[in-house]
Amino acid sequence: MTTGESGADERGPSGPPVVIGAGPALQAALGGTAAEAGAGRIPFNKPYLTGRELYNIARAVSFENIAGDGYFTQECSRFLETRFDVGRALMVTSCTAALEMAVMLCDLQPGDEIIVPSFTFVSTASAVIRAGGTPVFADIRPETLNIDVDHVEQLITDRTRALLPIHYAGVGCEMDRVMALADAYDLVVIEDAAQGVNAAYRGQALGSIAQLGCYSFHETKNFVCGEGGALAVNDPALIERAEILRDKGTNRRQFWRGEVDKYTWVDLGSSFAPSEISCAFLLAQFEAMDSMQDRRDQLWTAYLDRLKPLEADGAVTLPTVPADCRSNSHIFYVLMPDGRSRDGLIADLAEQNIHATFHYVPLHSSPMGRQLTPDPVELPVTDDIAARLVRLPMYYELSEDGVDRVCSAVTAFCAARR
Ligand SMILES: *Cc1c(COP(=O)(O)O)cnc(C)c1O
Repeated sequence: MTTGESGADERGPSGPPVVIGAGPALQAALGGTAAEAGAGRIPFNKPYLTGRELYNIARAVSFENIAGDGYFTQECSRFLETRFDVGRALMVTSCTAALEMAVMLCDLQPGDEIIVPSFTFVSTASAVIRAGGTPVFADIRPETLNIDVDHVEQLITDRTRALLPIHYAGVGCEMDRVMALADAYDLVVIEDAAQGVNAAYRGQALGSIAQLGCYSFHETKNFVCGEGGALAVNDPALIERAEILRDKGTNRRQFWRGEVDKYTWVDLGSSFAPSEISCAFLLAQFEAMDSMQDRRDQLWTAYLDRLKPLEADGAVTLPTVPADCRSNSHIFYVLMPDGRSRDGLIADLAEQNIHATFHYVPLHSSPMGRQLTPDPVELPVTDDIAARLVRLPMYYELSEDGVDRVCSAVTAFCAARR
């Protein structure tokens, strides 16, 4: 991560001088363009600092409250509630924590099932097991790599309680069809919007559409605080219990609001609230959301334009964004013709100091996944895509020259294979 400590001194809210973090100018001076244009290393990801993070942290310290639920936590919640029109945004320590809370809110009984994609991060499925349920793995669509709603319908049984789709690469899954299915079978829907912050489906922010939505602010995502997340509680009937689970199973928040006269242990929760230090960092990122988004969109489009000829030649398949989705350009990926060419491309790029990477190893065939059912699960699209996918470098400070270098290397690799 690029950090720096130049910049003007400024008085914090209660007086002591604080140092403002490096702004974009210093960051430009420290790296980026020159190195990327030559043979310097192009990492896969590099978290961006807006320059306000250290200042905000200093303010949090000067407020003499670095535990949870102070000024910065409230501001982050309010930001998400206002900008994405979510019912109640509860800041938590990770998207994993948000997923665990969301599944706890489904009140699963032993044997209850939740349908998840196999092509996802482990937390989507492990949250289900932690709450006493069984994840059932669905296949994905080859165009978007999002959950295949037709397959989901085939998997619904009388033990199904919820659907838990993800929005891969920040492109919304078919939420209208998911919600219609949930209505028809009386199921809860939880959106794993870890990758979907500031993206939309049919004009609605991802994470705001279903009863529950889960966001990640891990440093590999678009807007970050190291480790962090939020649970969007869009169904008002779930808010009170969600607050209790987040606060170690106590009704402390109701007590603060004067709704009960003492606070006590009322449910089984855990410690899900983040520190004010994390939220202070995150608020700086939220405030720069528009410019950070614009830059990612530019880079994503630059990749698409530069690689279109390769796709026209049939050498690669590029991502598609359906017309009803507004992507947040979280990932730019390329599908190679087969697993061997994928592995070859990653190795070839690595030799040129460009760090590209594969993505999920399917959960259904993982050692843990195989323990879940005695019968082998067949998910042909998931297996095929997982073997052929390469994610290219994508981060705010990547330059156009960097994108050119990556695309030239991919093009040369494909030409050499012919
Ligand atoms: C990153 C990610 C997670 C986990 O997020 P954390 O904040 O690291 O817990 C969960 N699901 C998906 C789809 C992700 O991409």
